[in-house]
Amino acid sequence: MAKRASIYSVIVLIVVAGLFAGEYLLMSRRAQTECGFCRRHINPKAHVVAEVGGRRRNVCCAHCAVTEARQEKKPLRLIAVTDYSTGKMVSPDGAWFVEDSRVIACEHDMSKMDESKHAEQLEFDRCSPGTFAFSDRKAAEEFVAGNGGVLRSLPEVLAEAQQ
Ligand SMILES: [Zn+2]
Repeated sequence: MAKRASIYSVIVLIVVAGLFAGEYLLMSRRAQTECGFCRRHINPKAHVVAEVGGRRRNVCCAHCAVTEARQEKKPLRLIAVTDYSTGKMVSPDGAWFVEDSRVIACEHDMSKMDESKHAEQLEFDRCSPGTFAFSDRKAAEEFVAGNGGVLRSLPEVLAEAQQ
């Protein structure tokens, strides 16, 4: 009897450990796909890794990190950015950024409904206009030619966080 009981407790232990492991995996995956500042789903083409006040997070786009740093009045560091053309993570040093283009970085509904069901444009959106990064200046210029927007260097983007 004692032996059977111990087998049961081992099985229970394994199941519980499995549940914990599963939850941990789910949590870490969520940290990769959910913005650490605004909780929105991260667009893989605009994904950046940023530090605001020394805390490192996965962020939906560079603009969201800039907004966070400005609101919190804390220093911003970009650790890695996604090259829009290739979808690969690159160093932000020497990268080019496009702001104010017609392409929306965050996948979410920009409008909200009021009581009379008229769609209203949100006056302020922390992620809008989205910022896209390019490791190649020419690719960034082509993007601007096709989608509008302004080309900015890394120091220019970081300066916006200090305003
Ligand atoms: Zn965000």
